[in-house]
Amino acid sequence: MPELPEVEVVRRGLEQFVVGRRIATVEVLHPRAVRRHEGGPADFAARLTGRTVDGARRRGKYLWLPVGDDALLAHLGMSGQLLIVRADEPLSPHVRVRFTFADGGADLRFTDQRTFGHLLVAADGAQLPPVMAHIAPDPLEDAFDLAWLTKRMRTRKTGIKRALLDQSLVSGIGNIYADEALWRAKLHWARPTDRLRPGQVAGLMAAVTDVFAEALKDGGTSFDSLYVNVNGESGYFERSLNVYGRAGEPCRRCGALIRRDPFMNRSSYSCPVCQPRPRNGRW
Ligand SMILES: [Zn+2]
Repeated sequence: MPELPEVEVVRRGLEQFVVGRRIATVEVLHPRAVRRHEGGPADFAARLTGRTVDGARRRGKYLWLPVGDDALLAHLGMSGQLLIVRADEPLSPHVRVRFTFADGGADLRFTDQRTFGHLLVAADGAQLPPVMAHIAPDPLEDAFDLAWLTKRMRTRKTGIKRALLDQSLVSGIGNIYADEALWRAKLHWARPTDRLRPGQVAGLMAAVTDVFAEALKDGGTSFDSLYVNVNGESGYFERSLNVYGRAGEPCRRCGALIRRDPFMNRSSYSCPVCQPRPRNGRW
């Protein structure tokens, strides 16, 4: 599952290779890829053909390309990729939608082995596609409002990691980055949000931004070839993780052994010394 930094890398690639170009043809090769587009595949193609891509935007893990007042919205799901591929390159088996451009340059191909991702045209969605109205800004957006988030967290009775994963509070933070940010901020994942001081929320969100920035630095390759895999393999997961997936290994800060707890059908990794468990919520 791509996380926010990977999607941001994809956005940058699209900005460089697709923005300013006029779409010549749209071929939907697998209808499932546009299942969320109300008008179906033919309408999807008709709404995009002949239009110029005006930008490449992102909120959390959603990407959209404004075309006039509308937007081509993409969610990559588990395995979706947006590939910039030379126009004469044969189609790979998992290409679901192919866009060609009037300049005859490289194609944009939406490839998705497991077809959990999808594309749709959002009418009047250039600024913010309406289907995303319930999704809060992510920490890298200008629209992100720390004071608003702090207030919402402190009036809610929930655990801090649940709050980080709640897209109505803040978007784009997945399980891995949540664990990494909580370790940096020295906060246990179950800490009740209504007991957090504003400074702790600020520290945590600074940690989130730092973790994202490092992942972007690792994944921020320059796209200078036509064979661009605009997929955003950052390499971050192998190199820079401090707690996630490291159960039983020493904490890089204090040497205590990292523990793993079950969390919402997944896992939470934390350091027992740097991130002590809350007792009766008295923090
Ligand atoms: Zn530690």
